[in-house]
Amino acid sequence: MASRRQIWVGGVPIGGGAPVVVQSMTKTETADYDATMKQIRAIADAGGDVVRVAIPRDRDVDALRRIVVESPIPVIADIHFNHTLALKSIDAGAHCVRLNPGNIGGPEKVAEVAARAKAARVPMRIGVNSGSLPKHLHELERDNPVEALVTAATEFVALMESLDFEDFKVSIKSTSVPNTIASNRLLSERIDYPLHLGITEAGTKWSGSLKSAVGLGTLLADGVGDTVRISLSTFHAEEEVKVAWEILKALKLRERGPVLIACPTCGRLQFDMDTVVAEIEQRLESYAEPIEVAVLGCAVNGIGEASHADFGITGAKNEGLIFSQGKPLRKVPTERLVDELFAEIDRSLEIGRTEIDDREAAEGAEWLKRIEDENADELTPERMAAMEAAAAKAQDGDEADAVTDALLASADGATDDPAARVKKLKLAEEVSPTAGRRFTRA
Ligand code: SF4
Repeated sequence: MASRRQIWVGGVPIGGGAPVVVQSMTKTETADYDATMKQIRAIADAGGDVVRVAIPRDRDVDALRRIVVESPIPVIADIHFNHTLALKSIDAGAHCVRLNPGNIGGPEKVAEVAARAKAARVPMRIGVNSGSLPKHLHELERDNPVEALVTAATEFVALMESLDFEDFKVSIKSTSVPNTIASNRLLSERIDYPLHLGITEAGTKWSGSLKSAVGLGTLLADGVGDTVRISLSTFHAEEEVKVAWEILKALKLRERGPVLIACPTCGRLQFDMDTVVAEIEQRLESYAEPIEVAVLGCAVNGIGEASHADFGITGAKNEGLIFSQGKPLRKVPTERLVDELFAEIDRSLEIGRTEIDDREAAEGAEWLKRIEDENADELTPERMAAMEAAAAKAQDGDEADAVTDALLASADGATDDPAARVKKLKLAEEVSPTAGRRFTRA
């Protein structure tokens, strides 16, 4: 269940239907003001909405006092064990304080921080980690780690409410992806406070991104989670932000900057796709516009499934084609494809539309048709997908039964009808495992 309550971290709303907030944490010593500010700016430039900084010493609080003034995004003070640092961080102007009520020295100290935060109207993030559950939950943890995590979180929520403090979000962190998913699902049923999602010590850029995409993506697709932090073993915190955005963009929960789509390549590939896609991805990073750019490794399918892309390229050995919204724009030599693509993007963004030169477009269309005709017999992945789409389009409500019959007949080997086999591939939305639970926020 999505959270119903909303808190504000600086000027950023979290929970209660607000867009999912992207955050990261600096990896610098906070006391090193210049290095920390440089990283905060990199995080903000990459699309971070809020940033967390570690406050383990008094000298970090000193730097925090300046950082909260200069930072382009709200700053959360990350506190462990020492409640006086939490108090000092609130006094220093932190926009939020993160602490684990179980390791801050007892309920009296939590109460002291809550009172100071309330007076300063500073929200808190309270969290539990699988590695630091309270002693009385250790036995439960052995039998049922998910229930133990959720119990710890709900006990902390009850503690905060008993202190008359409700301006907080909650996090449950675990290194286990299944436990993260299960515990956050359960917690979202039991409380209506905003939830912070993350996978503890997720790993390297490669494995950590995948783990986070699976764990956080599953929860977000369910409508669970209000702010995300991707934890990666890299000094470049902005990489965490980029991964978070890719997850949100993939789920269509938020929009930011371009979307790159690229075919997976196959034996029909006609040019050095790896290099070209990497270059395009890197160059697109400097664009803020939510344009969709497609890269197709060959032209044997025509523009096919990339016809909705704002801009795209497809290539053959010596020549390639630039297209826009399904229409060929012009042929160009393969070595100039990327530069010409970006020239076209820049030109179109500048004048607010794509100009079409009829002669060049006709030449491009002719070139494309020739390649398509030469390869008309090939059953490419895209052509199979197009057949599937055509079959799905032809399908109406009543036909669903016929599809099922055809599917069963096909499974029995009683039909060789290709259309029936194509229909078998279709997974209707109403039988999708995430039907009705997706993309509930703007
Ligand atoms: S057939 Fe499809 S997957 Fe293969 S290279 Fe061409 S566009 Fe890419």
